[in-house]
Amino acid sequence: MGVFVVTGSASGIGAATTALLRTEGHDVVGVDLQNAEVTADLSTRAGRSNAVAVLPQRLDGAVMCAGLVGLTDRPAALLASVNYFGAVEVLESLRPRFADPSAAVVISSNSVTIQPGWDPDLLEACLSGDEAHAREVAGRHDSPTAYPATKAALARWVRRNAPAWAADGIRLNAIAPGLIETPLSQEVRADPHLAPLMESLPLPLGRGGTAEEIAALLAFLLGPSGRFFSGSVVLCDGGTEALLRPDDWPARWG
Ligand code: NAD
Repeated sequence: MGVFVVTGSASGIGAATTALLRTEGHDVVGVDLQNAEVTADLSTRAGRSNAVAVLPQRLDGAVMCAGLVGLTDRPAALLASVNYFGAVEVLESLRPRFADPSAAVVISSNSVTIQPGWDPDLLEACLSGDEAHAREVAGRHDSPTAYPATKAALARWVRRNAPAWAADGIRLNAIAPGLIETPLSQEVRADPHLAPLMESLPLPLGRGGTAEEIAALLAFLLGPSGRFFSGSVVLCDGGTEALLRPDDWPARWG
């Protein structure tokens, strides 16, 4: 059985993934602000390096679930730090500890492809690796607008790095969930400016997803059945994007 790290393990998708991996017999080290084996604030460089210092020396896999949604009163700079740097910096630090074979998954979002108008400069600022600059660019926006840009940067980081990681036997993938019923989506519903937008989100399957449904996808991607996935951004949104943009993907090259 394997050794896995799950960030954001105290709630929602991270908690469901931790529970499922443990049911499968794996050792899981959870990282979160509280109620986790490793208590750490992944919004800061010190918090990330403190976490990395106590995480296992040999890993079969990792899932970076820790994340913050955009809310009217939440600063956008915080989203850049948690959603992008809190995942990428931890994974890059852990890279030498991954076994061959092993797998890592980050959580992007279907907001990348269904929420219009996010700033490509924020994506580029994240990918530059300059956190102070990314926080400054994020701060030009409200956090609901910054959210998809931070999640787009995560998916793009996976696409850019998966081939090199694959050469070391590490499969790097992203998933892009749609609306999933967790404390995070409850936060959006409690935001008077955002609740009407969420209510208007088309859900072809007639409901949001569950954390357990996303955990099952993550466990699949981490495990032997997912061994041909590398560099994928797996959309799992109950059909929302297909309804809104049926003809935009797959897209012709050139
Ligand atoms: P959640 O709020 O239930 O869980 C997120 C966890 O991240 C929490 O336990 C929280 O404490 C932790 N976290 C937040 N900031 C942190 C920090 N600074 N340091 C350490 N941990 C921190 O949310 P969820 O719905 O389970 O979301 C998990 C991931 O899935 C997030 O990255 C989110 O952006 C993404 N996602 C969620 C949805 C959805 O509809 N729920 C959709 C698409 C993507």
